[in-house]
Amino acid sequence: LIQQSADTLLRLLNDILDFSKIEAGKLELEEIDFNLRDTLDDTLQTLAMRASEKGLELVGRISPQIPDALIGDPGRLRQIIVNLVGNAIKFTEFGEILVDVRLQALRENEVELVFSVRDTGIGIPPEQRQHIFESFSQVDSSISRRFGGTGLGLAISSQLVGMMGGEMSMESTVDEGTTFHFSLLLKRQLGSGVSLPRELSALYELPVLVVDDNNTNRRILEEMLVSWNMKPVTAASGEEALNKLERARVAGTPYHLMLLDAMMPGMDGFEVVQRLGTDPNYSDMAIIMLSSVGQSTKSARLQDRGIARYLTKPVKQSNLLDAILSLKGLITQPEVAEVSVSGGPPLHVLLAEDGLINQKVATKLLEQRGHSVIIANDGQEAVEWFERESFDLVLMDVQMPEMDGLQATARIRELEAGGASHLPIIAMTANAMKGDREQCLSAGMDDYIPKPIRSQQLYDTIDQVVNAAASEAGMSAVSDTAVPSPQAFPSKETQSQEVTPDTQPLDPGEVFDPDGALEGVGGDADILKELVELFYDECPKLMVEIHTTLAAGDAVALRRAAHTLKGTAAVFAAKRTVASAQKLELMARESELDTAPDALSVLESEVERLKQALASHFPPRTEIR
Ligand code: ADP
Repeated sequence: LIQQSADTLLRLLNDILDFSKIEAGKLELEEIDFNLRDTLDDTLQTLAMRASEKGLELVGRISPQIPDALIGDPGRLRQIIVNLVGNAIKFTEFGEILVDVRLQALRENEVELVFSVRDTGIGIPPEQRQHIFESFSQVDSSISRRFGGTGLGLAISSQLVGMMGGEMSMESTVDEGTTFHFSLLLKRQLGSGVSLPRELSALYELPVLVVDDNNTNRRILEEMLVSWNMKPVTAASGEEALNKLERARVAGTPYHLMLLDAMMPGMDGFEVVQRLGTDPNYSDMAIIMLSSVGQSTKSARLQDRGIARYLTKPVKQSNLLDAILSLKGLITQPEVAEVSVSGGPPLHVLLAEDGLINQKVATKLLEQRGHSVIIANDGQEAVEWFERESFDLVLMDVQMPEMDGLQATARIRELEAGGASHLPIIAMTANAMKGDREQCLSAGMDDYIPKPIRSQQLYDTIDQVVNAAASEAGMSAVSDTAVPSPQAFPSKETQSQEVTPDTQPLDPGEVFDPDGALEGVGGDADILKELVELFYDECPKLMVEIHTTLAAGDAVALRRAAHTLKGTAAVFAAKRTVASAQKLELMARESELDTAPDALSVLESEVERLKQALASHFPPRTEIR
């Protein structure tokens, strides 16, 4: 709830800020090169989750004659689309949302486009229509209270459209739906035509079966395939697909490729795949499965027969073409039909991390996804591994003894220089502060995740980085792997009674937050249990190290030990221990050790509390020291 309220507030602030900038004539538009198809497709993909949660089909279509390479302000275009599509999703309970882009005029150096966003929602009553473009106006504030919204979105969007040389209009029928149109005048990038990749010739006249129950989707896919000179035939259901496959086979003109919607009423895509089963007649046909975001991959059922690729809807045009081209060998030379089951490809990962617990967390999370992991205990070791073996990805802790993550990255980039390859490196650091990200990126890292490691964030970042690297190398890596669901775990209420009461009221959730800790390890209670065991081992050693380094006045070593303890405690979402370790870490960083002994005794009692809380959930194998 807090997250939601904060988001709503942030949106409101952004809207007001935009609105007042426009009013004051201070809003400036960018004039940069951008690709229309990628911009639109990417934008729709960010909205896809919301649409699919409501069971709505979200589709985008750009007429094939429209040149892709344009000049303008893609950020503001995205903002308009997000507003219109966001509203369409908000005010539609059943059906579909179509974003359609048509060519109005094509001139040598500019294009005139008409965008429409059509929904099958509640509609807007006639008496309200002229008001909704005004600021702070909403038809029914109860809906907006339910879904959030400021009544500023359309006012901003229509003004932005005006600034881009266009106009916004709307038609609507109550209970049937609403369509917003806006025109835009955009410059063309010089010397750009509607060019198609050369490899397309291999796909010429290739027979493809497109299976989708949604009419709009079928039409759009068909149009895309035709624009690539392929020969699509459509089917509206699983049954129809099986019939058409059989007929084509008998006629001796079999399909080499099938685009198959996963979710259809009656016989769904998975069942179609299952029916085809091991039938050798169809073993030469590649299947691309189209599914909605958030829909499980039902991976068990995939094993019946290969599905060559998995794409999420709304399908990004360039992803579809990449996927088809990457299957080209398969499609055009059926005799080498080696269909691979896709998901994220397994990666060989180098993990550079000095903390035992974080090593364990990262390794487990990576292995859950089928990746293999090699551990380097510091930066120096990481560089040595890099020279010895080839990896797909590096996860690099920033603070490490000997050689830190920034230095190690710089060294790896140096060694790479001149070669063609670029090994993706993701930084991991507990210093989640402003500027850290920039520091990591400028050291040559590709992305960054804060510690404690959160499973979903780790997976998402890996997907992004690996996909980006793959598309740079001209391949498509499409992945969609389900995250394990949290396992049963005792709830907070039943857990915290044994914690020693303090003189001050103490929130047990701040000593140890089992739910937070569990979430951090992808919901796997077994992993958490192992980590607790490790903690029983590690923690006393770290405390000894903190004592000795403080006694010796060695601020650098003290800082590192306190930092590691902080990271370790963060794994258990142990706020109080984290805070007191951080206090000590900061003192060591500033070399102000006068009050450090006091901070240490606070830390000691927090650690004691944490141990007891952990022990009440996970009795230690050996006695706690
Ligand atoms: P908000 O932030 O409230 O969505 P907007 O300016 O974007 O503000 O929209 C103003 C109002 O117009 C909405 O509150 C809603 O009543 C109406 N509206 C906008 N789009 C639609 C739509 N697609 N279907 C029905 N009503 C809509």
